Amino acid sequence: MKLGICPICGGATKEGLVDITESVKGKIVLIRDVKAEVCSQCGERIYSSSEIKKVEALLKKVKEGTIKPKETKKAEVYLVS
Ligand SMILES: [Zn+2]
Repeated sequence: MKLGICPICGGATKEGLVDITESVKGKIVLIRDVKAEVCSQCGERIYSSSEIKKVEALLKKVKEGTIKPKETKKAEVYLVS
């Protein structure tokens, strides 16, 4: 999985590290440095199944409260309208 094609727009994708935000029990959780193929045209992210499994396993631990966050940051909330 080095260089692929974006399923949305057909642009070229490049391997990189991205952040994923998830809501867990009303808390915003940031998962950093997730491997993904990122489209250079539309920004679509494509994750490998092994990476998705890793993220799901991590989120499970977060939900169960069996893992401590690396750091805690304050988040800013905005509305579009
Ligand atoms: Zn694209």
